[in-house]
Amino acid sequence: KTFDDLNLREELVRGISVMNFHKPSKIQERALPLLLKEPAQNLIGQSQSGTGKTAAFVLNMLSRVDLTTQQPQALVLAPTRELAKQISGVAQLMGTFLTEKGLVVAEAIPDPSKRGQKLEGQVVVGTPGTVMDMIKRRQLDARGFKVLTLDEADNMLDLQGMGDQCKRVKSLLPKTTQVVLFSATFSPEVLQFASVFAPNANQLTLE
Ligand code: AMP
Repeated sequence: KTFDDLNLREELVRGISVMNFHKPSKIQERALPLLLKEPAQNLIGQSQSGTGKTAAFVLNMLSRVDLTTQQPQALVLAPTRELAKQISGVAQLMGTFLTEKGLVVAEAIPDPSKRGQKLEGQVVVGTPGTVMDMIKRRQLDARGFKVLTLDEADNMLDLQGMGDQCKRVKSLLPKTTQVVLFSATFSPEVLQFASVFAPNANQLTLE
C-alpha cells in the first residue's frame, strides 16, 4: 500500500513527501481508512509512540477541516505541553501546502499577553486543563468542532483528574464530534474510559 491509495487530498500527499515518508506505517495503513470513512466513526487505537500514530490522526484532522473559515474544528488533547507542541509541529509540517489555502494550527497555551483574545485556527492542540479554561473564558469557541483526538490516553488517565477534564471538554463539543483515542496500552482502565468517551468505536490493536 502507498499513501496514494488512501484517497488523501493532493496537498496532504505533497505534505507527506515533505516529511520524507515513503510508505504508510502499519498503523497509518490500518487506521486511516477507518478514520476517513463517511459518516465519521469513532476509533480507539492501541499504538506505542514510534509507530506513526501522530501522522495518522493528524492526516484525519487535516482531511476534515474547512479552510474557508478560521473557526476551530479539530481538537487534540495531549497529557503534556511538550507533547502538544510536538503534535502541532507535525500538523504544521504535514499541512505545509494547506497553509496557502488558509490552514492555521493553534496551540492552546496560556499567554497573558493574549488575554481575552480569541484563539483562531482550524486545528487546536493543547492540554485538557488549558483547553477547558479557554473554552470557559470564551477564548476558544467549541461549537464548530468535528473531530476530537486524545493522544496517550493511558498517560492522561495516570494524571490526577485529567480523565475527568477530558470528559468535561468533550461535553462542550457538538454531540456529533468524531472521537479518536490513542493509547500505548489497552488496560482495563483505558478500555473502561474509552467505552464512555468514544462509544461504538472501531477498535484497532497492533499485534
Ligand atoms: P509517532 O509514532 O507518531 O510518535 O512517530 C514516530 C516517528 O516515525 C516520527 O519521527 C515520524 O516522523 C516517523 N514516521 C511516521 N510515519 C512514518 C512513515 N510513514 N514513514 C516513515 N517515518 C514515519
